[in-house]
Amino acid sequence: MLNQLNVFGKTKLEVTLDKIKTFEPEEGYYLAFSGGKDSQCIYHLCEMAGVKFDAHYNVTSVDPPELVRFIKEHYPSVAIEKPRDKDGKQITMWSLIASNTMPPTRKARYCCEKLKESGGKGRVTMTGVRWAESANRKNNQGLVTIMGKGKKMQQELRDADVNFQKTNRGGVVLNLDNAESRRGVEMCYRTRKTLVNPIIDWDDSDVWEFLDEVVKAPHCCLYDEGFKRLGCIGCPLSGGKNMRRDFKRWPKYEQLYIHAFERMIENHPGQIRVATGEAAKTGGGLQMFRAWKEWCSFGK
Ligand code: SF4
Repeated sequence: MLNQLNVFGKTKLEVTLDKIKTFEPEEGYYLAFSGGKDSQCIYHLCEMAGVKFDAHYNVTSVDPPELVRFIKEHYPSVAIEKPRDKDGKQITMWSLIASNTMPPTRKARYCCEKLKESGGKGRVTMTGVRWAESANRKNNQGLVTIMGKGKKMQQELRDADVNFQKTNRGGVVLNLDNAESRRGVEMCYRTRKTLVNPIIDWDDSDVWEFLDEVVKAPHCCLYDEGFKRLGCIGCPLSGGKNMRRDFKRWPKYEQLYIHAFERMIENHPGQIRVATGEAAKTGGGLQMFRAWKEWCSFGK
């Protein structure tokens, strides 16, 4: 509950606003906006906190059309960014698949890096990441997350008396919104991907309470159809059941994946990797698509 008081007599909402103010960089936050409920929260929280920020939506080419329409209609100030390669050509899920020798999987999520995580270099990035979303986030994310392996960075943080914990991905997290943590962010964000996650400890009910009762913001219609989370259509991280649901809901995207797999096979004869390789040899794009869904159902 957002109005519940802590031992210092502050509500959860006030504490969250304080966190946002604590880490505000001079040039403002780079706000990673996806149109989903969590990124809507950080957008409105930044407005309430009165901090500087600019919000950016990365075009993944596999986001639900309803979500893209929602962003354009209700958040026109959000910058729409198209990820591009070094020659300036737009990168899409289809071009990425065609240039690889395996489809994206839970363990090889090359699409995230190229389609979603390329913006905000040299800026303090604000995200709507929450621990309640997955156990993985519980282990690898904090109020502040500084990504990447860096013994030198860790030593510098120690020298500056910044209290941190290492994550099992080699990065570090800072969980206090105090002056030391702020110093840690200032030391790192120019050279290391630095994320401020102010609603990291919010649960789903906090999110909906904030959107429905505090800021009274509209939400994407897919939530009313029963979707709990919104993201890429056919995301391998969502598991086989959700992949099947997505392809039933947006059949055109099934065809687009199959076509991209066909282009992958054409571009890399005999080189397709993991379980889908055998399917690619015998059945082309369609068989490969089926094998991929099966493979992802087992959490691979
Ligand atoms: S499909 Fe999944 S793994 Fe790929 S970019 Fe989207 S969220 Fe990331």
